[in-house]
Amino acid sequence: MPRDARSFGGRYRAAGLPRRVLRVVFLGPPGVGKGTQASRLATERGIPHLSTGDLLRATVAAGTPLGREAEGYMRAGQLVPDDLVLRILAGRFAEPDARAGFLLDGFPRNLAQASRLETMTALDAVLSFDLPAEVLVARLSGRRVCPVCHSVYHITDHPPKVAGRCDRDGVELVQRPDDRPEAIATRLAVYAEQTAPLLDYYRARGLLRPIAADGSPDEVAARVRAALPPP
Ligand SMILES: [Zn+2]
Repeated sequence: MPRDARSFGGRYRAAGLPRRVLRVVFLGPPGVGKGTQASRLATERGIPHLSTGDLLRATVAAGTPLGREAEGYMRAGQLVPDDLVLRILAGRFAEPDARAGFLLDGFPRNLAQASRLETMTALDAVLSFDLPAEVLVARLSGRRVCPVCHSVYHITDHPPKVAGRCDRDGVELVQRPDDRPEAIATRLAVYAEQTAPLLDYYRARGLLRPIAADGSPDEVAARVRAALPPP
């Protein structure tokens, strides 16, 4: 964003003029590039980017009663129950920066969560990012990580300077078990199975906006903007 546009936006807000609220959900399979687009849109529209993983970690770190409750499940290696996630989300929606709206990334994951969410807040749009399965498999199976410093590389999109070695410490890069092609096929199948009912649910409410996620990040960002009400 150009500097003058940002300061203009800042003056606008400082003057207390209303901005259009944007409450949006991003859905998409692993590897589709949804996180990148979510960060960009959240910055552009001045709304918090809420991914449940980050939100849970932040709540635990804050040491609130809800955070301590969540920590119990996470320490035990259990999934944090929907009810608790929704109570944490409700608290987050009430914070001042969420008055302009929010971007939910990776939530809801199923129909039960979607119908609970609907009782808590209205949504303006649900963006569903799509890419052919073979492209997703190629993207995900090319990922390599450093087992020591956890730097992430990609054999074609973000290769290390020396093949197979971490740029920072020279350690041999590894492929996570989750990123092997068989595991990826399973992850994508699970995603499709869980998400299909959600897509129907939001389509029936007139909220679903499919986004073709091929092309450059700028091209995808332009499709995202076109699918949403203007700021
Ligand atoms: Zn490293």
